[in-house]
Amino acid sequence: MSSIVTTAYLADILRDARSRTLELLHGLDAQQLIGPRLATVNPMLWEIGHVAWFYEYFILRRLYGHKPILANGDALYDSIRVAHDTRWDLPLLSLEATLDYMGRVHEALIGRLQGTLADETESFIYRFATFHEDMHDEAFLWTRQTLAYPRPALGSAAQGPPTDAAAGGLSGDAEVPGGTFWLGSPPNAPFLFDNEKWAHPVTLAAFRIARAPVTNAQFLAFVADAGYRRQEFWDEAGWHWRLGAGAEHPVYWRRDAGDDWRLRRFEAWSALAPDQPVVHVNWYEANAYCRWAGRRLPTEAEWEAAALGEPAANGGELAARKRLYPWGDREPTEAQAHLDGRALGCIDVAALLAGDSAFGCRQMLGNVWEWTRDTFAPYPGFAPDAYREYSQPLFGHTKVLRGGAWTSRSRMVRGTYRNYFGPERRDVFAGFRTCALDDDG
Ligand code: FE
Repeated sequence: MSSIVTTAYLADILRDARSRTLELLHGLDAQQLIGPRLATVNPMLWEIGHVAWFYEYFILRRLYGHKPILANGDALYDSIRVAHDTRWDLPLLSLEATLDYMGRVHEALIGRLQGTLADETESFIYRFATFHEDMHDEAFLWTRQTLAYPRPALGSAAQGPPTDAAAGGLSGDAEVPGGTFWLGSPPNAPFLFDNEKWAHPVTLAAFRIARAPVTNAQFLAFVADAGYRRQEFWDEAGWHWRLGAGAEHPVYWRRDAGDDWRLRRFEAWSALAPDQPVVHVNWYEANAYCRWAGRRLPTEAEWEAAALGEPAANGGELAARKRLYPWGDREPTEAQAHLDGRALGCIDVAALLAGDSAFGCRQMLGNVWEWTRDTFAPYPGFAPDAYREYSQPLFGHTKVLRGGAWTSRSRMVRGTYRNYFGPERRDVFAGFRTCALDDDG
């Protein structure tokens, strides 16, 4: 299960997640809150109701036995029952009525928290449902990016990016020794998702992995070398995707005169920042870049070993011990990881050296999600948690991403956290780092 936490902590994260949600809605008109019918976004008016319904269903109704607040809540907001492309056709509540529903659920959740310490069930399900809101808040950010809505005003960004945000590039590989690595979450982790259970031994050969994610400047060299037009760099599915999408460069890039490349962030175009990580590239684009560069994506186990592993005291192999975070076992600070929407975009890949892993990999958490080579699959002995559809339906056809982006919440991402999206997804805040080819992989 997960650790016991205080009711004050649970109330705090509930309030914090909700204020972020409201910030992400702010300034959008009724038409923007519905938006176009796209496979990768939801109508935001539906999505906020779904977030409230999720808390109501799993906590108020299933845990505490409350009666449903809305007569048709399940028919509107159950994401398993309501097919994605029908969500634009539902008789949704008005924004005012949706906010009222959200508020009623929120107050009931807070009201249920009695005493100083939550019990084990509450400690898990309140966090799980809050992290679910956090995940939708990240989706609201990619929705606003996809639809070129105005950049949101996030309170978290008020103090500005970290002081070394413009630290430049970081070249070179970290050398990670081989040995037995315990992939996944140990039982003593403070919180766990079902797909992280449980840590199990895998055998790794020594490998070399880039100290930093691939930058815009590096990816631009691939684009400029006609990388999107040369089939030899693409596998069959990737080439098929490229032709269908007509892709010539990353989705939010635009070439003005000559070599003047611009990047769209929300509604605004700006110069491509050379030392920021490339973002909004899909798994096919990442693999094509790798083939062009004579590199490869890390496996999920390699990524996690580079992030959390430690060298054995006698050298030569991986130690049996691993960390919760790249820098150790303590929760992220702003000097270690670019998370929580502290700036409204990426920062340079050389920033935040205090967050380096034992092997010298930087920004393994935060800034951009990182594609791995692997298809999302259950660990040995997998059993679904209370929300049975969290992981299981996505096994076998999505690809694993690790590490969290600037959009992710520091309370949720850890070194063992697994994210997963289809290989065609370019809208999520994903980049990648590469491994050297001359090792076994
Ligand atoms: Fe959901």
